[in-house]
Amino acid sequence: ALPIIYAITPTYARLVQKAELVRISQTFLHVKNFHWIVVEDSPVKTQLVSELLAQSGLRFTHLHTETPKEHKRKESDPNWLKPRGVEQRNLALQWLRENRELSEEGVVYFADDDNTYSLRLFDEVGAVRFGGKEWGSAEIRSTKRVSVWPVGLVGGLRFERPLVEKGRVVGFYTAWKPNRPFPMDMAGFAIALQLLLANREARFDLLAERGYLESSLLQSLVSIEELEPRADNCTKVLVWHTRSEKPKMKQEELLQKQGLGSDPSIEV
Ligand code: UDP
Ligand code: MN
Repeated sequence: ALPIIYAITPTYARLVQKAELVRISQTFLHVKNFHWIVVEDSPVKTQLVSELLAQSGLRFTHLHTETPKEHKRKESDPNWLKPRGVEQRNLALQWLRENRELSEEGVVYFADDDNTYSLRLFDEVGAVRFGGKEWGSAEIRSTKRVSVWPVGLVGGLRFERPLVEKGRVVGFYTAWKPNRPFPMDMAGFAIALQLLLANREARFDLLAERGYLESSLLQSLVSIEELEPRADNCTKVLVWHTRSEKPKMKQEELLQKQGLGSDPSIEV
C-alpha cells in the first residue's frame, strides 16, 4: 500500500490565518493518501479552523494546545526571539504515538501554514502531468528514515540545501550558524513514521537555542550519513519558506472609531 503522508501544521489566529490554511489545504487536496494534523496554538479549537477542516475535503485530525505564556512571542518581539509551534508539533507527535501502530507505513512532514509546497514534493509528479523527466517520482513518500531536500527563500539565502556526493549527504549549503548539528529548516526534511514510533522520547525542545529546534529532534533519530537526499540529489527547490505580510488595517481602525467598522459576522 502507498504509505500515508502525515503533514503536521501548527497554526495560530491572525488576520491571514484562513487565507494561509485555504491555500495549503488546496495544495494538499491533490496529494493521495494524505492525513493533515492541524494543531491550533489556542486554548480551544476555534470555529474558524473547525469549519475549514470539516469543509476541506481532506482526511484530518484537529488538535489544540496553547503555547505557555512565558514562551509565547509578543507582538513587539522580533519574530526570531522565541521558537514557534513547538508544543503544537510535539502534541501531534504524541497523537501519532498514541494512535498509530509500528506496522503502519507512513511519513511525517512538518508543514508550516505559511510555506509554499510544490506537489512534486509529495510524489504526485507523473511525466504526464508535469512533463519532462520523472525525477520526482519518489520524494517524501519513499522516506525510509529521514529524507532531506532544499528549501527556498530561507536563512538569508535564495535557498539552503544539503550537499550531496555519490548519493550521500556530506554537508550543507547554509550561511547562518553553519555549525548546527542539522543546519536545516523544518520544511526541508521528512521522517518515517516507524522511526518516530520506535523512538518515543524524540521531540522538539521548547528551550532549544535559536536555530537549534530542528537539530533537537533530528539528533536523537539519525546521523548525517544516514540522510536520504531527495529532489534530484538536493538540486531542486520544491518548497519555499514564504512569509505573509501583515495586512494593514488603517482604514478598518479609522472606520471602527466612527462605529462603521466592517461586519464582524463576515469571516475573513
Ligand atoms: N505558530 C504558532 N504559534 C505562534 C506562532 C506561529 O502555532 O505563536 C505556527 C505558524 O502558524 C506556523 C509555524 O508555527 O505554522 C511557524 O511559525 P512562523 O511561520 O511564524 O515561523 P517562521 O516561518 O517565521 O520561522
Ligand atoms: Mn513561516
